[in-house]
Amino acid sequence: MTAVATDLLPRVRDFIAGDRPMLIGGEWVWAESGRTFETIDPATARPITSVAHGDAADVDRAVRAARQAFDDGPWSRMKPNERERLIWRVGDLLTERAAEFGQLEALDNGKAATIATAVDTAWSADIFRYNAGLATKITGSTVNVSMPFVPGGEFHAYTLREPVGVCGLIVPWNFPLLMAAFKLAPALAAGNTVILKPAEQTPLTALLLGEIFTEAGFPPGVVNIVTGYGEAGAALAAHEDVDKIAFTGSTEVGKKIVEAAKGNLKKVSLELGGKSPNIVFADADFEKAVAGSVAAWMFNHGQCCVAGTRLYVERPIFDDFTAAVAEAASQAKIGPGLDPATELGPLVSQEQFDRVSGYLSAGLADGARALTGGKRWGDEGFFIEPTVFVDVEPSFSIVQEEIFGPVVAALPFDADTGVAAAANDSIYGLAAGIWTQDLSKAHKTARQIKAGSVWVNQYNGFDTAMPFGGYKQSGWGRELGGAAIDLYTQTKAVNVAL
Ligand code: NAP
Ligand code: MG
Repeated sequence: MTAVATDLLPRVRDFIAGDRPMLIGGEWVWAESGRTFETIDPATARPITSVAHGDAADVDRAVRAARQAFDDGPWSRMKPNERERLIWRVGDLLTERAAEFGQLEALDNGKAATIATAVDTAWSADIFRYNAGLATKITGSTVNVSMPFVPGGEFHAYTLREPVGVCGLIVPWNFPLLMAAFKLAPALAAGNTVILKPAEQTPLTALLLGEIFTEAGFPPGVVNIVTGYGEAGAALAAHEDVDKIAFTGSTEVGKKIVEAAKGNLKKVSLELGGKSPNIVFADADFEKAVAGSVAAWMFNHGQCCVAGTRLYVERPIFDDFTAAVAEAASQAKIGPGLDPATELGPLVSQEQFDRVSGYLSAGLADGARALTGGKRWGDEGFFIEPTVFVDVEPSFSIVQEEIFGPVVAALPFDADTGVAAAANDSIYGLAAGIWTQDLSKAHKTARQIKAGSVWVNQYNGFDTAMPFGGYKQSGWGRELGGAAIDLYTQTKAVNVAL
């Protein structure tokens, strides 16, 4: 059943016209249980279509297909430049079909189709191309060994950088296609085979991406996609024949993955939650800092792991700055993702709507004051007004916990006591923003902040070539850049007595 049939591209309309199977061993298949589940349009709370409800039995099938493709299949025998060409082709096909992916993502996740096309899909294509290039540049090294216990011996010693094997990739609903690209592209470039488990809220673009892998000519079993609930992710994380899990999502589930991975000590990389500080000094370019600070917590409706949701403003400009941020936020055009004018769409699900509403109530009950927002928008779908809280204490839950909605807590700081201690007062350490025109202050503060990414006079300063990941409880490992290849390879030391 189609919720929004109008204005959809014909290919998108066709894609959601019937239930969608999943991709295992090169075949589009249904769950062994025969079950399906609905995916919802968050702008209307109505179902879009249904997808296969994969569980442990289907995960097992997918792992066997991936194992065979890795051990015996053509994938392990393919040359790096053959992998390069296939992965590059995925980037090109994503670019060709960007509008389709953008619409489908908007429908399933709620984000604006314009952004889902120009950011999520375009960047995903860029990530596939970047990693296509890396496939031919994975190298070991020769080592000049001394071997003191073998006097007079001669040796030829070197390292090989090899794929890890069968990788389970578990991704969340906030950037469904993009988070899949973050993991798929380097995993495949390094020669692994994969099982992708998209979030239950947003399975559709992963399935459309499956068509692209098939069209690009990937051998069967190299990319498997199992749609399902958390139990499917848990089965993947616990599976004895999976060599590695790469996970993006909540810190809570990240800890469950670590627990589940214990059985066969599979490798684990984690990209988890955040509660990132965005620091505005009094000497910052006021207008730019306002615009950037609004985007920092409002982009993707605040459903960003890096969202700059603790806004620290130097005291002399605190009132003017927070008033300007509230004013700019209140101007955002709210609406369904498929409306081209939309800047702020709905939250992804009823559950997420309830969770964010709970934080709004908790903030007000604790004594915080909303300069703007503080409640639901409209009377259908999962929309929340962008909300700026002041009069907050560091102990409030809205300051400590990841809300994952368009909500910011603003706190003043004084030049003489500094801001680093407050900014670092978090279990998380994913990202931070710094706004100042003083170069030395910018660099000094960047060093003081315990976070994996620091952005100066901008926010969300991502690039495919820059490593991304968390300090503290924000994760293990670095995605993107050349660093991502490290997550999907292991080193073998070979020493030959001559
Ligand atoms: P989540 O539970 O961590 O979900 C992320 C992925 O893990 C989904 O594919 C999920 O499948 C899967 N999963 C769930 N339980 C699992 C388990 N025991 N073992 C293996 N995989 C499992 O995130 P959520 O519940 O959707 O969101 C809750 C909160 O997490 C948000 O409010 C936000 O604070 C945070 N979050 C952070 C990020 C980030 O990028 N850091 C992204 C999303 C959410 P199902 O979807 O089927 O449950
Ligand atoms: Mg949905």
